[in-house]
Amino acid sequence: MSAALAVPLALVALCLLMAMANPRLIERQRKKQERAAARARAQVRRWMHAINTDRCTGCEACIEVCPTFVLELVAHKSHVVRGESCIQCRQCAQACPTSALVMHREGDEPPTLRMPELSEVLETAVPGQYLIGEVAGKPLVKNAANMGRLVIEHMRSTGLSPGRGTGASAADPIDVAIVGSGPGGLSAALTCRHHGLGAIVLEKEAVIASTVSRYPRGKVFMAEPIACRNLSFLPIVDTSKEELIAGWTRIVVDAGLAVQTGTAVDEVTRRADGLFELKTAAQVLYARRVVLAIGTRGKPRTLGVPGESLVKVATMLDDPEAHRGQSVLVVGGGDSALEAACALTDSGAGRVTLSYRGRSFARAKKRNRDAVERLVAAGRVELLLGSQVVKITDDLVVIELADGKMIENHAVYVLIGADAPLKWLEKCGVKSVDRPHWHRFGATDEMLAGLGIHSECPADVEQALWRVLGRKAPARRQGPPPVPAGRRPDALPAGPAHRVVVAWEPPSPAARPRPRPPDEERTQVDVVPLAARVRGKARR
Ligand SMILES: Cc1cc2nc3c(=O)[nH]c(=O)nc-3n(C[C@H](O)[C@H](O)[C@H](O)COP(=O)(O)OP(=O)(O)OC[C@H]3O[C@@H](n4cnc5c(N)ncnc54)[C@H](O)[C@@H]3O)c2cc1C
Ligand code: SF4
Ligand code: SF4
Repeated sequence: MSAALAVPLALVALCLLMAMANPRLIERQRKKQERAAARARAQVRRWMHAINTDRCTGCEACIEVCPTFVLELVAHKSHVVRGESCIQCRQCAQACPTSALVMHREGDEPPTLRMPELSEVLETAVPGQYLIGEVAGKPLVKNAANMGRLVIEHMRSTGLSPGRGTGASAADPIDVAIVGSGPGGLSAALTCRHHGLGAIVLEKEAVIASTVSRYPRGKVFMAEPIACRNLSFLPIVDTSKEELIAGWTRIVVDAGLAVQTGTAVDEVTRRADGLFELKTAAQVLYARRVVLAIGTRGKPRTLGVPGESLVKVATMLDDPEAHRGQSVLVVGGGDSALEAACALTDSGAGRVTLSYRGRSFARAKKRNRDAVERLVAAGRVELLLGSQVVKITDDLVVIELADGKMIENHAVYVLIGADAPLKWLEKCGVKSVDRPHWHRFGATDEMLAGLGIHSECPADVEQALWRVLGRKAPARRQGPPPVPAGRRPDALPAGPAHRVVVAWEPPSPAARPRPRPPDEERTQVDVVPLAARVRGKARR
């Protein structure tokens, strides 16, 4: 080799040697190789199901969306029974409302659960404020009811005694304000009634226990968890949801509970003097203690357009039959919107228009997409994709399309999903923590047993009512037991409809027109004064 070549070659070799010895370059190279290896591994690693049975409610949402029948209910919990058929689409995890079912890469840990931080007696970081039921991280009806009893028993054992307040002012606070009338909230209210504590239940929907009330018609309700004792005052039995709600309505009425439906609580704050202020659209309520029992269905999203607070605008379709012959607008592109459009058409609505911002219904189930396509093809549903509602008036809706559109309208259903209640809870001072996916809450009957409470609630509504009122049931049935004077509601009418009478008078009610008449078959919840209900309905 000539001397002229040897020098540059030696220099190149030297540079290479120096580069190879440079630790930063070596590290960078190593990381690059690791990333490439991880990518290669991820390409072959399968998505795995992780199902936390403590959180599974058996609602079947995951089973319904699975295109290849991989999942099935076993002992009322979702299980992977045909894993080999899984096409890895992960729709099941997206459909699960309780995060019981999540998916993770083979070899990785499942994602953690974000849960509210609570003491062992379910008190939040705000002293005197308790969080119970599904929103506390423990789904299922018996659990919610046991937790409702637990927190009231804890309040009593820490010095809360019956006062005579109505909650109308800070000088006149009510003992306990309960947000939400699901099994958790109702159970808390019944426990207050048992101990003579003044309580009011504020419920944002027009019906009590709206989650259970809105199970699919005729759904068989399972008193779950099977191994857990019901140590609350709320009767819970295997039955149809219609029977269950009728029984709960009956005990609410006969125990004289104060339940104010149609009243969403916007915010709860603790004042410097320890009292709580609960703000709703029309009033402020003052309470010595607060129970948050809001479930996990969240706050329905709204459009934010003029006219959205009109009585004809709603965020849930209860009664498609009520729109026979009417012109109805449904807004949204998910399953609820598509199902509502089909139900309205089937029930004889005169004109059904479906407006959606997107260009296709990618999020909805195929079954619903196909059904809507058929109705559109038959000219029974007017479909406005890529459209936006800009204004709602008493008799019209204005919809923005490429060429603009205005249609005559009697009712609007805004079905564009709901925001998880996490933000609402944060506003109320509830803190959250991360827990492993397999985290188990513990048995709620054991929590009550720890307080010396062991007697189970009778399955029979009447027997349960005697127990709430602290009296021994007579040997033979003699009709419902008497309720103390001043709290006795009207006698129950025959048949499935019942009235829930509110004993609490909110300050300065503002009258508004009455909403749609209730469905014959639905449990009718009449609230006194009427203005309170109408006000709530107008906001929904
Ligand atoms: C389809 C389906 C089937 C199920 N089947 C079963 C079953 O067979 N057995 C079983 O044990 N469990 C079942 N579950 C689960 C069970 O319904 C819930 O775990 C249970 O209802 C939780 O009770 P909760 O009191 O915590 O909340 P919920 O029952 O959800 O009640 C919360 C209430 O609070 C109200 N609310 C919310 N926010 C506010 C606010 N800001 N102001 C005022 N009110 C508010 C809501 O309108 C609602 O009425 C099922 C759930 C679903 C969705
Ligand atoms: S990932 Fe898809 S195919 Fe597999 S179980 Fe879930 S929904 Fe079914
Ligand atoms: S969707 Fe979730 S809660 Fe419902 S059955 Fe499946 S795993 Fe259970």
